[in-house]
Amino acid sequence: MSVLVFVEGLNGEIKKSSLEAASYGSQVAQQLGATATAVAIGEVHEEALTKLGEQGIEKVLYDEDSRLNSFVADAYVKVIAKAAQQESSKVLVFSNSNIGASIGAKLAVRLNGSLATNVTTLPNTDGGSFVVTRGVFSGKAFADVALTADVKIIAVKKNSFDVTHNAGATATVEKLSADLADADFAAAPKETVMQETDGVLLPEAEVVVSGGRGLKGPENWHLIEDLANALGAATACSKPVSDMDWRPHHEHVGQTGITVSPNLYIAVGISGAIQHLAGVNSSKVIVVINKDPEAPFFKAADYGIVGDAFEVVPKLIEAAKAL
Ligand code: FAD
Repeated sequence: MSVLVFVEGLNGEIKKSSLEAASYGSQVAQQLGATATAVAIGEVHEEALTKLGEQGIEKVLYDEDSRLNSFVADAYVKVIAKAAQQESSKVLVFSNSNIGASIGAKLAVRLNGSLATNVTTLPNTDGGSFVVTRGVFSGKAFADVALTADVKIIAVKKNSFDVTHNAGATATVEKLSADLADADFAAAPKETVMQETDGVLLPEAEVVVSGGRGLKGPENWHLIEDLANALGAATACSKPVSDMDWRPHHEHVGQTGITVSPNLYIAVGISGAIQHLAGVNSSKVIVVINKDPEAPFFKAADYGIVGDAFEVVPKLIEAAKAL
């Protein structure tokens, strides 16, 4: 029996969120006395696949069919299901990314499995049970869920588990070829445009500096950009800011925008409405700068600065430049 981890690639490398899933999957495998296998799809360098050994993966199955370079849910599900069948995998793990969220339910139906998304704990297997904790209500609460089907499918919440590094360990790579004759490639995106800020892709950014209506207008956005530049961060914003065209829509973070999961999220002049928090609550550390001490965002913050953004942010820029 193996625990099967689906890993996603980006520019030939494995995404950090998938490295977290691989680390999680190999810990589950240890717990169950199983082996940890990964399945990779599309454009990923072979060296990146081999290096998954550092996260405890023993073997990687790789389907290099170039039609899989763009995400097509139907085809991805077929490849992962084939790998699961080949490896007799009863536990499947992947990141709760946009792709993970799109394939989870389809895989559960195909494999007749139980699915838990947004998972934040290793399974509790006491007495033969298999119980995980998952975030619910936009991360405001947690629920314990028992996975009772033979096949258990876990989508791991980003930033909930550290990436393990067993330096020098390598995984073997084997080709996998799924039957995709009836896969619906007509649904494949014709073009994918990556919107980057100074080479940093917002959903993958380690540091994000985000501005809200408290910045008063687009003419003040140099404060956000200068702080982001000094920290090597991506820039983001609240929904009203992009609705008012102060910033482009691809920077809008939240329930109806992009989900980010950086190590550091700095929110400047953002009130912290639940719809905004839904997109940022996977951040490891949240710093809030707001002149209103009662702003709801402070409840979700690790560090808070009560003060005027126009006084606080220039000082932060100065300090960051001096680092
Ligand atoms: P405001 O609520 O106006 O807050 C501005 C903040 O700036 C205040 O807290 C104020 O104290 C502070 N401030 C003012 N001046 C200064 C200063 N000089 N220095 C420091 N602080 C200052 N919102 C999202 O962001 N993302 C979403 O995905 C999203 N989806 C939504 C979906 C639905 C269905 C609905 C109904 C709403 C959604 N919203 C979303 C909107 C959300 O409810 C809030 O209205 C929005 O997040 C508020 O944006 P804001 O914090 O920038 O503005």
